[in-house]
This record gives sequence, C-alpha cells and structure tokens, in this order.
Amino acid sequence: MVWVTADAPTKVELDSCVRCGLCLPHCPTFRLTGDETASPRGRLAAMSLVANGDEQVDAVFADVMGLCLQCRACEVVCPSLVPFGRAMEGARAEIATQLSLPGRKFRHFLLGKVLGMRFLVRLGSLGIAIAQRSGLSRIAFGPLKRLAGLRRLPILTGRYSGNVWESMGPTRGTVALLTGCVMEPWFSAVHNATVELLRRGGYRVEAPEGQTCCGALAAHDGAAVLAKRLAARNISAFDGYEMVVANSAGCGAHLKDYKNWGGEAVSKATRDIVEVVAEILDTGDLPELSLNGKQVAIQDPCHLRYAQRIIEEPRRILRAAGYEIVEIDSEGWCCGAAGTYTLTHPDMSEELGKRKANQVRETGAILVASANPGCELQLRSHLGSDYRIAHPIELYRDALRASDEKAVLK
Ligand code: SF4
Ligand code: SF4
Repeated sequence: MVWVTADAPTKVELDSCVRCGLCLPHCPTFRLTGDETASPRGRLAAMSLVANGDEQVDAVFADVMGLCLQCRACEVVCPSLVPFGRAMEGARAEIATQLSLPGRKFRHFLLGKVLGMRFLVRLGSLGIAIAQRSGLSRIAFGPLKRLAGLRRLPILTGRYSGNVWESMGPTRGTVALLTGCVMEPWFSAVHNATVELLRRGGYRVEAPEGQTCCGALAAHDGAAVLAKRLAARNISAFDGYEMVVANSAGCGAHLKDYKNWGGEAVSKATRDIVEVVAEILDTGDLPELSLNGKQVAIQDPCHLRYAQRIIEEPRRILRAAGYEIVEIDSEGWCCGAAGTYTLTHPDMSEELGKRKANQVRETGAILVASANPGCELQLRSHLGSDYRIAHPIELYRDALRASDEKAVLK
C-alpha cells in the first residue's frame, strides 16, 4: 500500500525537490538534531520513498513527519519552490488514514469537531475563566500547563458572528471578519482592536453568521476530512466578500491556502489585519503617532513570516504607534508553539520556547509584539507575567486612544 487518499503529496510536488540542501540551515529541527531525516530534504525523500512503493506509511514514517513544525521556513529559501507545507499536510492526512496511533482520534475530535462548535468552545472557555479566578489554573499539570500562557478570560464573551459595524466617516468598502474558534473567547481584545481600526480606517465590518474555525489545526494534524468540512462552511459564509480579514497569523495563512481545499475565491480575498492596517496608514487615514520612547521586541510568527511572507507590515504599524522596535531573532526560528506541537513534542517545543524567551530577555524589552495567538501563549508561558505580549494592532490601537485622550485634554 502506498498513498490511499486524494490529499497525498503529488508526484509533481515531490519531484520538484532537487536535493540541493539550501533549506537545511533554515530548518530548526535539522539544526537542533543534525539529522537528515529531521530536515525538509530528508522528509521529502521519505515521502518519495513511500510514493514509489519502496517504504510504507508506518510508525517510523509517522515519527519523521511528526517532528516537523510545519513552520515553512524551508519554503521561502527553496529555489525549486517546493510547496512543502502542502506536501506535509498531505503526508499527515495519509498517516491519519493508514495508521491508528494513540491519542490521534481524540485530538482530531477536538481539532476538527469541538473547535467547530461555538457552544463547546465557549463552555470550555468558561471553565478556564473559573479556574483562573479560583486558582485552580495554577495547579494545572501536563498539557494543561500551557494554559498558564492565556490572558485572563472574561466569564462571558461577546458574540462577534452576526454583527455589523458601520465605518467611521466615508466608506472604503465592506470587509468580512473571520471570528475563528478560540480567538473570540480567548483573544476578544484583538477582535475589538481589529474592528476599531478597520472602522476608523473607513471600512464597514461584517462578521458573517455560519462561519467557523478555519480548520488550520485539523489540517496540520492530518484530519483532512474534518478540515475540509470546516473549510466548506467558511467558503459558504464568506461567499461574495471582496475582502476577508483574519487577525491570527495561523488562521490567515490557512485561509490563503483554501485554494487547496476548494476555496479559490476565499484564498484570493483573504488579508491579514497587519496588511490592511499598514495599507490604511500608507493612505494617511490612520495617523502616525509620535515616539512614546518605549521599546517593543518583535516576534515573527512563522505563519506570518514564512507562510504569508509578511515581514515589514507589523514593523510599519509599531513604528506608527511610536515604538522603538528591537529585533529578537535574526534567524527567525519557530517559537515551538506550532499548533499542537506543544502536546505532541513537548521536549522540542520546550527547547524552542526557552530559546525564544531567552532572546527576548536579552533585548531588555518587557513588551513583545506577536501577531499569532499560539506564539503569544508560548511566549507568555515561558516569559511569565512580568512581560506583556500583545498583537501589533492592539499596541497601535492603545497608542491611538492615548493620543486621542491627550488631544481632548489640551
Ligand atoms: S516546515 Fe520547518 S521544521 Fe518542517 S522541514 Fe520545513 S523548516 Fe523544517
Ligand atoms: S531547498 Fe528545496 S529543492 Fe533544495 S533540498 Fe530543500 S526542498 Fe529540496
């Protein structure tokens, strides 16, 4: 038995690798292990062996694929433009179909079903909010320890889907907001900043009913059938919108990949919020604020920097907010959050998380900008409560409000 699903890596994808090795120095798992099978080239070679019938989809193959962070740092340096992220999703879909591995069914149920059910996500979030207030969260163990990186959750979260917010001033157009799964209850402050800046920049914002989790976590874990169902719901909810805005780098990257999941139009329409706010700044419809004298360390989420190739825009926004930007990682390594990686590979995730946190400490900044919720969780659980981690657009929105207040007091 070789490949058995339509999602498997294709011959064209695999044959496009010319084995040059240029990706190797950019791959965190290869750099940490020195092992060819932990490199992009080694993983593609393993996929080719299975495709040719020389190897099986077995536990060894699953381990080789499972150690990959899916950070896609290899993609941006590849001269042959190998679509590594797509091929890896296909390989994992095959593993999920052909092998029964412990814990996977339950994980897929959580990622592909529960995250798509708003009621259950809200119920779980209520439980976390109560645990945070009662002190129970401090004695969390195992994978639940990661929840220490969460912001303090509200007992009740506002509902975003189904809402419409009119623009302030002349309208540029209408955008659809992806409300996501945990973004709504866990990161409502990012949604609030998103809506406020879009409105001030002249957009009417709609959060269409019927939308759901983008399906990125399910797709990355090989739950292709469930990921397709989630994508289909979003493709229908966002039908007809010229612009769909995501404010989590992982979700934005996955929506832009919907072309691989039957949603070409949504792929084309999707923009990350940092792209849109940077564009509004360029037109002068949001102001440049004066230097506030504070430093901000900037963390590039892999799904912003590599999957979406967005590097300058968050910096543009932070400069406009008056911050002095400190770079933390010239090599741009993944922080180790990587979707469910903290659960599936806790040791490697811990090592990468510690490395990133140490780099932040070395800068001396106590404020960190990150445009992805998973990275925020990872950074906060490694840095502790002395540090503030926030989305770049939250920092700009806060600076804008402070500037408004100053103007009123004058
Ligand atoms: S996606 Fe990241 S971890 Fe995986 S092979 Fe590419 S660079 Fe390495
Ligand atoms: S850089 Fe691209 S072509 Fe070269 S080994 Fe890596 S994946 Fe293959």
